[in-house]
Amino acid sequence: MLPGKTYLNGYAGYGEPPRPARGGRGGQVALPPASPGPAPTVTWSKESGPGTVAFADARSLVTTATFSTPGTYILRLTADNGQSKVSSTLNVAAETPPPAAHLNPVYTKNFKINSPLWNARAKALIVNWIPHCIDQINRTDLQQGQGGIDNFIEAAKALAGLPHGNHKGYVFSNAWVHQTVESMSIALMIDPRGDPDIIRAQEKMRATLEDWIPKILAAQHPDGYLQTAFTLRNPDRWPDRWTAQGRSNHEGYTAGYFLESAINHYLMTNKKDARLYNAAKKLADCWADHIGPTPKQEWFDGHQEMEQALVRFGRFVNDMEGPGKGQKYIDLAKFLLDCRKGGREYDQSHLPVVQQYEAAGHAVRAAYTYSGMADVAIETHDIDYESAVMSLWDNIVNKKYYITGGIGSGETSEGFGPNYSLPNNSYCESCSSCGEVFFQWKMNLEYGDARYADLYEETIYNALLGATDLEGKNFYYQNPLNANSVRHPWDTCPCCVGNIPRTLLMLPTWIYAKSADSLYVNLLIGSTVNVEDVAGTDVEMVQATDYPWSGKVSITVNPKVRKNFSIRIRVPKRNVSGLYTSTTDANGIVSLAVNGSAVKPKIEKGYAVITRAWKAGDKIDLVFPMKVQRVRASDKIVADRGRVALRYGPLVYNIEAVDQDITQTLGPDSPLTTEWKGDLLGGVMIIKGTFANGAALMAIPNYARYNRQPAAAVEAPPAPAGGGRPAPRPTMSIIWIKER
Ligand SMILES: [Zn+2]
Repeated sequence: MLPGKTYLNGYAGYGEPPRPARGGRGGQVALPPASPGPAPTVTWSKESGPGTVAFADARSLVTTATFSTPGTYILRLTADNGQSKVSSTLNVAAETPPPAAHLNPVYTKNFKINSPLWNARAKALIVNWIPHCIDQINRTDLQQGQGGIDNFIEAAKALAGLPHGNHKGYVFSNAWVHQTVESMSIALMIDPRGDPDIIRAQEKMRATLEDWIPKILAAQHPDGYLQTAFTLRNPDRWPDRWTAQGRSNHEGYTAGYFLESAINHYLMTNKKDARLYNAAKKLADCWADHIGPTPKQEWFDGHQEMEQALVRFGRFVNDMEGPGKGQKYIDLAKFLLDCRKGGREYDQSHLPVVQQYEAAGHAVRAAYTYSGMADVAIETHDIDYESAVMSLWDNIVNKKYYITGGIGSGETSEGFGPNYSLPNNSYCESCSSCGEVFFQWKMNLEYGDARYADLYEETIYNALLGATDLEGKNFYYQNPLNANSVRHPWDTCPCCVGNIPRTLLMLPTWIYAKSADSLYVNLLIGSTVNVEDVAGTDVEMVQATDYPWSGKVSITVNPKVRKNFSIRIRVPKRNVSGLYTSTTDANGIVSLAVNGSAVKPKIEKGYAVITRAWKAGDKIDLVFPMKVQRVRASDKIVADRGRVALRYGPLVYNIEAVDQDITQTLGPDSPLTTEWKGDLLGGVMIIKGTFANGAALMAIPNYARYNRQPAAAVEAPPAPAGGGRPAPRPTMSIIWIKER
């Protein structure tokens, strides 16, 4: 990022360069191979590029380079041991920094969904999934994935000096309690539209919050610290908070989710109930009192989350209490990120974060780190952060990104594999999809560019929406593209159970963003949302559409008072990732009219811009192209060679074994059409075509995959007689269809 620098970490020696310990939980950094010859001298030089390159020390392996002009450069590193010379090259894209002014988030407050698809998905989460999570968290007899509200009750006893039970479950088990508090808070902001099932579920949520909040707060230490695993620990094994030995204790991971839950609870109660908000401030203050520049201590957590939570919370405190009031939390987030070094790739501490340009390690930790780094870049304009964030974004989107918008191939421990290595038995944890949404959303805020919203729309619809089944009774921890197992009601590690609903239901935040003079429409979802403080007025936005089934969208703009401002509507672009190309162009906009008159809008950064004095009742009618697309992957992705995927609007499609033989080949010229099936999978648009052998092809949206498999077909096959591993379960639902 100009005028910043690129950090160069070269290697010259004999044999393969050592790589930081990448997989597993081991932290050893491999040593370079022994040297059988003389030590080489090294030189960095510019091979090509539009401007000049200055190296801080062209004769040092570890150095920096600065670039005079934006553009693509090739640098060369040459090693010479006196007997022979070898060299290799490195590409660097020098870019201009993001604009000085970023977009502002729109808080999720009372809103109404009015969309066939989203009403059904939200209802399943509100009526079944969240109440199920509440019940599981209230249970004390769970054998797997245990550790719910009981941990808070026991921790409160311990704090009061009373006899108490042991901590249950993982050290981070508070996480799904806090996430479920946030999910309930968001669900309570959704207008039930008179639906008695939703009203009943919301009553249960209100009662649960009243039951849980005092229990959670009673487990908070007098100085604000909160983590029941610490309170109930064995002090011999876990002597103190924030130690180098205790990095795997998830202190920041659980604290971060608590801060986030407090934000949406405070908004849900219209700032009337500040119990969680005040407790969250106390917790954040406790951290800020202990961690920071000398005389405070350095520290980082092995599982990131506190960083992005602290920025979110800091911004929120600024908005609630006045500019500057939350600044110390934002400063602490940057400090925690700056402390990451000297560790391992698994938790992104192998290099200082500003020198990390390749997405690596555990995918949830990675996405949460990059999301927190994007937050820090937005808030500080630190050019090293801006450089690293853009490099990581580019690496993910153009080298490590599934067509579903999912991330994490699983080739390292729950993590990323090498560039272009995207096998379809992918890991793609539901939590990493949440992290990917957060990361892309922050890039949208930072750059004000629609392409990042194109990406998070892709992730929401394809990687996250199908994480629960259509009924909302079971969930996927992993989301392989070749689906071969049923969803489960709970998991040994239920880290995703509250993350899925809290992310999916925060729709107003994903649908809109704003700047001083503009209101941004990022997602097309039938809904009524009040966007506060746009050009000095509040604007109720009413979207009427059944997108993604149809491309017709009608938006009624209701500002409280007539005001001049711009509405910027994202014009969908389906090919942001360079890994995938699609045939039949479905980008752009078919028509746009304001109050019935056709308008040819100017397009800026992927948005159609309409500027006028808006008054209540003004109406924008749009039509977006909705076509079946054939998507092909870069030849560099071995797993997808000779295969094709189908897409309609933002939705990626699957073919399933319950409908056809999924090993058949689709003829390259077979026409593909759509048909609405109101009685299938809650109502879906299917794609129809013909396989090369003449058999009929039927594809369904990926989010609805694996909802019709008979249990017998999906249970793990029995172990073979005489021992050995059972055969892998057969793949029953695939995205990448054989094409030749
Ligand atoms: Zn998870």
